[in-house]
Amino acid sequence: MTGRTRVLLSKEEIQEKVKELAAIVSRDYRDKDLLLVCVLKGAVVFLCDLLRSLEIGAEIDFMAVSSYGNASISSGVVRILKDLDRSIDQKDVLIVEDIIDTGLTLSYLRENLLSRNPLSLRIITLLDKPERRIAKIEPDYCGFCIPDEFVVGYGLDYQEKFRHLPDLCVLLEFEP
Ligand code: 5GP
Repeated sequence: MTGRTRVLLSKEEIQEKVKELAAIVSRDYRDKDLLLVCVLKGAVVFLCDLLRSLEIGAEIDFMAVSSYGNASISSGVVRILKDLDRSIDQKDVLIVEDIIDTGLTLSYLRENLLSRNPLSLRIITLLDKPERRIAKIEPDYCGFCIPDEFVVGYGLDYQEKFRHLPDLCVLLEFEP
């Protein structure tokens, strides 16, 4: 399986941005009980880099939701495939996302987590495609706004491929 790709954001640009975001998050959560909730699987690479760049301690937990299946359009149907291991009651929760597209996934997730009584709930995303937004949702922290193109690499996949690419790339052609 191969694909032609074009680099949109280099690994150096991403690393610099992640450090900037980590500094802001560290400042905002200095005296708080921070829990990073990573949305599997795409956000895993971002979570790891963010966590390692924080100047404060943080707990981590994971959720898996279905939004896309194997197609590259949002179904609007969100199903929890893996729930958090622990309660978030009275925790300062920061949802860690790879990319916000229509916002439908995150919108559902936010309402779901808010019903569990966290002390606070914010969203950090590495990437945002604001042009495609359907749900009324904005991230509290955002790395890059990108154009409406399908991207892979830095943890993001197309049919479970391309996650390993260190740069963020636009997928131009794909051959199974
Ligand atoms: P939303 O519900 O905001 O439309 O979709 C969010 C999810 O769709 C992301 O967490 C990601 O898994 C997937 N997604 C949206 N845009 C892209 C993209 O350009 N590339 C990849 N690989 N996944 C995307």
